[in-house]
Amino acid sequence: MVTNDETLFEKVVNLSKRRGFIFQSAEIYGGFRSTYDYGPIGVQLLRNVKDQWWRTMVQLRQDVVGLDASILSPPAIWETSGHLQNFSDPLVDCKECGARHREDKLEDPTTCPSCGESSCLTEAREFNLMFRTQAGPVVDTSAEVYLRPETAQGMFINFANVLNTSRKKPPFGIAQIGKSFRNEITPGNFVFRTREFEQMEMEYFVPPEEADEWYRYWCGERHNWYLNLGIPDNKIRLREHAEDELSHYSSATADIEFLFPWGWDELEGIANRTDYDLKKHAEASGSRLEYHDANNEERYTPYVIEPAAGATRAAMAFLMAAYDEEEVNDDMRTVLRLDPRIAPYKIAVLPLSKKPELIEPSQEVLGLLQPHWMCDYDQTQAIGRRYRRQDEIGTPYCVTIDFDTLDDQAVTVRERDTMTQERIPIVGLVEHLSDRLNL
Ligand code: ATP
Repeated sequence: MVTNDETLFEKVVNLSKRRGFIFQSAEIYGGFRSTYDYGPIGVQLLRNVKDQWWRTMVQLRQDVVGLDASILSPPAIWETSGHLQNFSDPLVDCKECGARHREDKLEDPTTCPSCGESSCLTEAREFNLMFRTQAGPVVDTSAEVYLRPETAQGMFINFANVLNTSRKKPPFGIAQIGKSFRNEITPGNFVFRTREFEQMEMEYFVPPEEADEWYRYWCGERHNWYLNLGIPDNKIRLREHAEDELSHYSSATADIEFLFPWGWDELEGIANRTDYDLKKHAEASGSRLEYHDANNEERYTPYVIEPAAGATRAAMAFLMAAYDEEEVNDDMRTVLRLDPRIAPYKIAVLPLSKKPELIEPSQEVLGLLQPHWMCDYDQTQAIGRRYRRQDEIGTPYCVTIDFDTLDDQAVTVRERDTMTQERIPIVGLVEHLSDRLNL
């Protein structure tokens, strides 16, 4: 068990780099603050998190459809949504050391956390978090565009398009996964807060009188999603916002929080956004953004319940929750106890030795498994060390081909958490692993 939380953070960051989960971006140029690249193992982890979200939120439901909207958008959207006026954080500067801080995140609002000086912080100024750029060759205000700071507006501006083409009616949702950008004042804690990150958001449109009920429903569903994917009960909680914490568009919000090494912090927010966004966009664009029920000739602007999660932040939480160390035969093993659905590789195929007579059947076994699952293949080093390497990246099963395989047409299947080994005939291997992996 890893109990020292201070070192858990460093251990996960080091493992991420050492094993190709997450690299500092532009490292060969000295790095670029707060940007990260997902390496060969990390990209799989991140994809699996997003795939699991999509499966739960879209594939397994009849009432939610998907969308992939653009990242660049005209100022009119952000003017209308209120982001140009309100999407800002209070920024304070330290007059002693020059460090900048978010006032709302300071433990003591009179003391600089960088240099420890008291009474040295400037008055707070509101700092807008949106990235602005120019589209096209002419540099003037008509070419001004913003990188989206949330994916949600894509769903609002396409509300009528989706309604008219999908034959859905409230309650129904539009889901999207994609990059968002925020010029954060204090990015940090590895990929917890970055300026470029991925979100998984769903806007669920409901009759106004049902909004409360659906808000509670989605709080429960989203909490269960993390539990179901292996985050322990004592590391995740739902916290309702107090009145003064609410965003400009929200009438109720709850955060799903994870117990990070530095304390409880947000993984996902679930908000009742009321009819704020649809009404504002209808007003500003002159389009009708309502639901018209042909049965009773009723017309109304739906309320919106929004579960908004961070994919990159969730991936980090899954890594933190899964990290474990245990002593095995006087040796320390590091093991990522990731749920198999999240694990980067499901299976590693390992020939016991590099002898040609084992390579060929190993390649055949790999060919048998690859159409079903993401597999790793490794033929270097002693088998014990290769098992440890797979434990470190959370691979649930290792399949070893040895000299007996040539006679009995069977392989050894080793399970990550218990390290138990079973002899399984190659003909039954896909079925054996399906029973364990395809949940
Ligand atoms: P915070 O209070 O941490 O700044 P927020 O409440 O502004 O976050 P939301 O606007 O609710 O965040 O965004 C929804 C989700 O998107 C967050 O719960 C988080 O998982 C993710 N997210 C937001 N900002 C960032 C960021 N800078 N880096 C990584 N993920 C982020």
